[in-house]
Amino acid sequence: MHDLLGTYQRLDRIYQLYIKSAFPLRYPALAEERDRRLQFLRDPHNPVLSIPPLVEPVPIYPSSGMNLSEAVTNLPREYQDLAQLGQTLFDDTIQIYQHQWQSLQEAIVNQKDIVVTTGTGSGKTECFLLPLLAQLAKESQSWTAPNSIPTNQRWWDSNVNPKGEWVAQRSHETRPTAVRALILYPLNALVEDQLRRLRRVLDSSTVHQWLDRTRAGNRITFGRYTGLTPIPGKQVPNSDKLKELRAIMQSMEEEYQNLQNGISTDPSLLNEMPDLPFYFPRLDGGEMRSRWDMQDHPPDILITNYSMLNIMMMRNIENNIFDSTKKWLESDPENKFYLIIDELHAYRGTPGTEVAYILRLLYHRIGLAADSPQLRILTTTASLDAGQEGNDFLRQFFGRGDFSFITGEQTPPRDRARLSIKQYHDAFAEFARSVQPDPLYSMQPPDLDSSLPHITTLAENLGTSSDNSDPRRQLGEALENIQAADAIRDACREVNGSVRSTDVRDLDDQLFPNARGAEQLTSDAMRGFLLALGMSTLANGRSPQPVRGHLFFHNLQNLWACTNPNCTDPSVDQELRNSQKNRPTIGAVHANHSLSCSCGSRILDLIVCEVCGEVLVGGYKAERKVGNISVEILTPDQPDLEGIPDTVILSQKYGNYRIFWPLPHDSRPWETEPQDMEWTQDKI
Ligand SMILES: [Zn+2]
Ligand SMILES: [Zn+2]
Repeated sequence: MHDLLGTYQRLDRIYQLYIKSAFPLRYPALAEERDRRLQFLRDPHNPVLSIPPLVEPVPIYPSSGMNLSEAVTNLPREYQDLAQLGQTLFDDTIQIYQHQWQSLQEAIVNQKDIVVTTGTGSGKTECFLLPLLAQLAKESQSWTAPNSIPTNQRWWDSNVNPKGEWVAQRSHETRPTAVRALILYPLNALVEDQLRRLRRVLDSSTVHQWLDRTRAGNRITFGRYTGLTPIPGKQVPNSDKLKELRAIMQSMEEEYQNLQNGISTDPSLLNEMPDLPFYFPRLDGGEMRSRWDMQDHPPDILITNYSMLNIMMMRNIENNIFDSTKKWLESDPENKFYLIIDELHAYRGTPGTEVAYILRLLYHRIGLAADSPQLRILTTTASLDAGQEGNDFLRQFFGRGDFSFITGEQTPPRDRARLSIKQYHDAFAEFARSVQPDPLYSMQPPDLDSSLPHITTLAENLGTSSDNSDPRRQLGEALENIQAADAIRDACREVNGSVRSTDVRDLDDQLFPNARGAEQLTSDAMRGFLLALGMSTLANGRSPQPVRGHLFFHNLQNLWACTNPNCTDPSVDQELRNSQKNRPTIGAVHANHSLSCSCGSRILDLIVCEVCGEVLVGGYKAERKVGNISVEILTPDQPDLEGIPDTVILSQKYGNYRIFWPLPHDSRPWETEPQDMEWTQDKI
């Protein structure tokens, strides 16, 4: 996606065409008035179909300046193995963000609960995974070696297990089993993402080999316990349940094998989707296979949602999960229970109260008081203030309230950087006109390959010093030299007080003041500037400043019309109407619903004949008394307000709805015959 503005303009155009086809008016003057109403630029203060895009520079967060191995050296000695356990989360070419390091420091060094409030794309998940992995790296040093794996551990395979009985996944382990961390999600869809990440971290061959060498072959275990986890019900030998589970295990193994075979036949798949190997669980790793396995040996990391957690605490079959965790916590005050709640903002209001009670029940089941030092809470949220209100919410929700806020401030743009871009106005405007003279002409974004010469020209005009032979890299480096990223972020800050989504026209005013023509959505220079950001790359393959576009379209339910043909509303083009032989029989066209027009007349639904474009008006009928006479009036609203929302019928039926056909030169009493018996519409 390299053409944000053009994409918006093309969508907007198609939407306008669609509305026109739904209201094909036969009166040219009326059609012209309708079109003006729909076009943003004709009345920017009263938009109907859409507003110009908001442009959001993707945030840049400060780096800690350390890769994981370097960061770990600043942790106490017993946590040093995090560097190995976390190696597939962050390889040593990546520097971790400042807020990720801060999470580790607060949770591990200072032993504090944390709430992470950084924005999307800031690596929030890692903020809780790093401390959790650090804790597991420490504790697992004391684990005793497992016995040898039983030969029939792949119990679903009749070759190794002719009797067909169930064999628990971790029956050979000798270390204490308990839940070390509970990760709670509001939605099952988010669980899937999390599982893939845990597979990459804990079930990669690299980490398995490390565990074999240094943890006597123990695995860090994790399991999803939701409605999707096979299989509900009690463990019964030789039952239908067992048969069902056997079939599920067989097909899971097959799925995993097929995926791995597919990848080894075509390794290029990994370039497109590096996470592909982790889409399915492997049955010989740390991921727990079934509910039965987890009931017998609770996973170190249990992932679930709050309704399942609630159910698990209410019935017997999952007792062991909580009992063994309680026992493990009692056995050593150094043992810590990590409660991790992602997307905390999902639990506001009534569901929040329910979850808060479930958490208190959980503390009770595993023998922890809310203020226990053995409890460590890590949570992430999209919005929470570090002030009194935020702290009150945390205290009410978790039953304790001394959290460190990890806010992850973005790197601020250079002051006044926005002012240095306008000197390149001509270069950007020229670029836009050459790669895309009219965004609505071809209804396509500009073609990258045929634009390469123009990209080179722009890079030269911006004073490139690059000796790279790829034009897109040349432009990327040129944009970096003129500090284009700082400029657009500084412009956002100037408009909004902080770097966030900003109306593209406001950015235009900041970067290229007075360059925009009255009939233009933005100046050509602004268009060229955004195209240049989208069509250039740096050495890392990304744009010098990736931006996100937010497009807003209004779902237009209807159009309304003033019933007065001599309407004086300013949107009526009197001159145009007077110049036409066929004057429209209604007044102004309104895109918003209201009772009366600025001329004082009643507004009703606009109803258009799809064949000839004749206009009619419609409304709900109501009986009113005028003196002693009962009359029927029409309103654009259902008049029986008392009955809303239960007993009122909003459908437009003969009993409650009337259609009125205004004719030219109507005078009372209205004639029932058409004024002219013939009509023509284009070539029909
Ligand atoms: Zn009017
Ligand atoms: Zn018709």
